[in-house]
Amino acid sequence: MTDFSKYAQPGVLALNPYQPGKPIEELERELGIRNIIKLASNENPLGPSPRALAAMRGELEDVWLYPDGSGHQLKEKLAAKHAVTMDQITLGNGSSEVLEFAVRVLVGPGDEVLYSAHSFALYPILTLAAGGTPVEAPAKDWGVDLEALLAKITAKTRVIFIANPNNPTGTWVDGEPLHRFIQQVPADILVVIDEAYFDYAIEPTTGAGDYPDTSLWLTEFPNLMVARTFSKSYGLAGLRVGYSLCSPVLADLMNRVRPPFNVNSIALAAAEAALADEGHLRESVAVNADGLQQLQAGFAAMGLAYIPSAGNFISVDVGQPGAPLYQALLQEGVIVRPVANYGMPNHLRVTVGTEAQNQRFLDALAKVLSK
Ligand SMILES: *Cc1c(COP(=O)(O)O)cnc(C)c1O
Repeated sequence: MTDFSKYAQPGVLALNPYQPGKPIEELERELGIRNIIKLASNENPLGPSPRALAAMRGELEDVWLYPDGSGHQLKEKLAAKHAVTMDQITLGNGSSEVLEFAVRVLVGPGDEVLYSAHSFALYPILTLAAGGTPVEAPAKDWGVDLEALLAKITAKTRVIFIANPNNPTGTWVDGEPLHRFIQQVPADILVVIDEAYFDYAIEPTTGAGDYPDTSLWLTEFPNLMVARTFSKSYGLAGLRVGYSLCSPVLADLMNRVRPPFNVNSIALAAAEAALADEGHLRESVAVNADGLQQLQAGFAAMGLAYIPSAGNFISVDVGQPGAPLYQALLQEGVIVRPVANYGMPNHLRVTVGTEAQNQRFLDALAKVLSK
């Protein structure tokens, strides 16, 4: 049998596969227990908008037809929402895919992609898969250190990724320093602001007072790309739909590497309908703000430090290796996320659930910590 690893690209051999949160069904199979809660993948505990569900059902009969490969109607709505032109929008099978398009357009062997320590795991994966070199800048207080990023820029840097807020730390960068940072980045380097948790972070009660909407800076910075997703606040993670906003020139290049029909017809319909349901979005954000408070109070009561978060998740310092606690929580039917592979061995990341789910997690955590 051919050993294809002999022929694999060097960057691919250097990769570790992305580790997703454990699916509920898998834990059910392994432990034979029921009533499991998953707070491991930053999904919206309220699920999608009823309007999105209705739109999906309405689309079912037509699944034998290819979707609109340009996503015209969704792009029209997004263009209006963000006051951009349609040729600035790229739709992706999740926002992960638009991040991939940007890397495939700009990065090849010898090129560097820069991001902060404790950043989203996808950035090095995309970079290595493209044959590029991932470069990690040190973080400050778990968050992005903009000065450290600037110091790592070289003539080979092609792309800089900043997740704002960042996953898994929940930390965010304020508007004023971020704006100054982009001003200082050479104009031929793409700055990608990954705003997967935008709707949570822009909510003032979450605590992120000067959190910026960088989509407003696109005219000023032609080397800026903003990525958003329907996976988190819109509760549509399973459908895989996200988008980027950038200059028409870059969007045209990204469109050339985009596989045809990359966003399916059900996802297109659901995303459009979800955009129209502001009430559901507001409720999702409010439930999250309450849940963050509840979890923070619970951690404080247990004497545990946590990283203040502007997302729909929070990383708590359990004061000991998180992996065994993660396993112990699984036995209690609670799935969270160990983050040792993000350089955070003593933290666990928990997604904000409903009030009842948060309480169940806090009780389970107290129980496994007391053992
Ligand atoms: C969840 C997440 C995404 C979005 O993933 P999708 O592919 O849109 O589901 C992007 N960036 C970060 C930092 C995330 O946490």
